[in-house]
Amino acid sequence: MTTPQPHVFERITARQHALSDTLTVARSLPHRSRRMIGAWCFSDHIGPAQFPADQGLHVGEHPHTRLQTFTWMIEGEMLHRDSLGSDLVIRPGQVNLMTAGHGIAHTEDSVAAGARLHGAQLWIAMPDSHAECAPAFDHYPQLPQWQAQGVQWSLLVGSYDGQNAPTKVFTPLLGLEVLHTGTQPIDITVQRRANFEYGISALEGNWQALSDAEGADTAGIPMDELTYWAPGSAQAWTLRLQPGARLLVLGGEPFAEPMKMWWNFVGPDNAYLQQAVADWQAQAPRFGPVEGGQGRRLEAPAMPTAASSGSSARTGSA
Ligand code: MN
Repeated sequence: MTTPQPHVFERITARQHALSDTLTVARSLPHRSRRMIGAWCFSDHIGPAQFPADQGLHVGEHPHTRLQTFTWMIEGEMLHRDSLGSDLVIRPGQVNLMTAGHGIAHTEDSVAAGARLHGAQLWIAMPDSHAECAPAFDHYPQLPQWQAQGVQWSLLVGSYDGQNAPTKVFTPLLGLEVLHTGTQPIDITVQRRANFEYGISALEGNWQALSDAEGADTAGIPMDELTYWAPGSAQAWTLRLQPGARLLVLGGEPFAEPMKMWWNFVGPDNAYLQQAVADWQAQAPRFGPVEGGQGRRLEAPAMPTAASSGSSARTGSA
């Protein structure tokens, strides 16, 4: 029963990042001590926020390569437009999945000023076997959702407890939300796979892990602190959720391929990223125009000539 465990647990505090003049997001990935969880390579928790009466979020036209942007909406509405001609509003309980492949560009705009906004946007690195595919956009208006153990489960990506999410990804991944709407603390069991690594964080409320086979100190983990769990254990967690807690459980097989990031690009090496920056600045057809967005077109920051192996300071705009 008592298998010796390596160091398998980390607590990562998300850093606050200004997404616009009026909106700060909590960014937990990439972090200097943890770049990825499976193929999940970027994680922004947006809100919960209330915009001033005349304001909203307007992210101007910007590109992506070799990743999928994954948006999970909890409160509010955003209008997505992209260079494929997609023009669609995402609403609470829905997922948008944009597959950049060789290249895509998009915009994101609040539907109404003065609204509330709460959601998560994550990126999924694509494996070399698919990374140069044609771009695509998929909208999932409904995901598997069920009640069990006194809480509500929503399966956003992958398979869990006999449920399968339709979300099209290219490596073994899990995205699972657990919501406790009751008024008393509750203990739940969450399964895990030995070949997956995991990250658990709260999008609302507080929680703790009661099963501590790893010797983890998990008392009272607040919103936006990411706990990382290395592969190697299939022992289920017992988690205690405080009233109102909303957990996001990310999992996946460790991503073993070379993967570099610069700004909104993923690439296998620096030369690829340099080319993507040049193509965007030259308005190359690779990224195509996006019609109708309200924000201004974003400029790609130049890469330093001395190779940087993942300066997260320059990663991501949305
Ligand atoms: Mn984006």
